[in-house]
Amino acid sequence: MNTKSLPILYIVIPCYNEEAVLPVTSGMFLEKLDSLTKSGLIHPDSRILFVNDGSKDGTWEYICSLAEQDPRFTGISQSRNRGHQNAVLAGLMEAKDLCDITISIDCDGQDDINAMDRMVEAYLNGAEIVYGVRSRRDTDTFFKRFTAESFYRLMNRMGAEIVFNHADYRLVSSRVLQEFANFKEVNLFLRGLIPLVGFNSTSVYYERHERLAGESHYPLGKMLSLAFDGITSLSVRPIRMIFWFGVLSVFLSLAGILWAFIMNAAGNTVSGWSSLVCIVLFMGGVQMLSLGVIGEYIGKIYLETKARPRYIISERTASFPNKELKEDGR
Ligand code: UDP
Ligand code: MG
Repeated sequence: MNTKSLPILYIVIPCYNEEAVLPVTSGMFLEKLDSLTKSGLIHPDSRILFVNDGSKDGTWEYICSLAEQDPRFTGISQSRNRGHQNAVLAGLMEAKDLCDITISIDCDGQDDINAMDRMVEAYLNGAEIVYGVRSRRDTDTFFKRFTAESFYRLMNRMGAEIVFNHADYRLVSSRVLQEFANFKEVNLFLRGLIPLVGFNSTSVYYERHERLAGESHYPLGKMLSLAFDGITSLSVRPIRMIFWFGVLSVFLSLAGILWAFIMNAAGNTVSGWSSLVCIVLFMGGVQMLSLGVIGEYIGKIYLETKARPRYIISERTASFPNKELKEDGR
């Protein structure tokens, strides 16, 4: 088989305190890499790239031992925990000069690895980005499903265009990643940013499973803050809504002032304590809320102006390839 023209694939897998799940899923990822190679879809130099996100358990040691057993397992370690999005970014940026395509996937086995075949096929048919979209959420609890679906609706209403029911399971070509490297923002919301790069894209559908071991790191609180973060990173619609709310309250106030004058003329000015308290409290609440939203944007500007590094890699496994390899190594 002529492997020269086949794409080199890097499967990028963020891991944070996953020592319970890695022994279960690492073998599955390797088998998948193997079967993709055997079916002639990818180049034999393809790799699995674990990104240890500052885990406090034995995750990194386990990744290193995997790399010693089989050089197709490679790994990088972040100098501390920076969150899922930054871990994925670190992996993608490291991989972009070594491969032709990347697939990012969580390490807990929730996303169906069998969708990778269709993703690579879609790439071979001309798509540069292939979104993995959950077709059903039957294995999630009603609460998780409801909150997650409300999350996508809210995001889209607020002007952050994201693919419905797509998380961070996607194929991205190195061509797209080279362009994406110019997006310097530190407020990362990958599933909203990747579509902004453009290029041909398509979706493949898969069923989401339950976590194979360990526990979710995205309880409701974290999910809400991810949603808020996503909205304020991608769109200024909330500020515009405040403006329109301001316009509305100006009109209401004018009506109120008119009403106050009429009451005054009619000599009924003593009563009205309740309405006064309601108005004061309501306006106070609205002002605090608006300040909070504006403050959130100012906070984002503050973080952006500092332009701190989005990830810092402290270690690499011995199996991690040299950057020059792609040019002369095949
Ligand atoms: N993760 C990470 N850094 C973090 C939190 C999570 O790298 O600070 C990784 C985690 O190891 C997993 C993926 O991100 O591979 C998704 O996390 P999780 O499964 O807990 O989220 P859920 O699937 O419940 O949304
Ligand atoms: Mg998960």
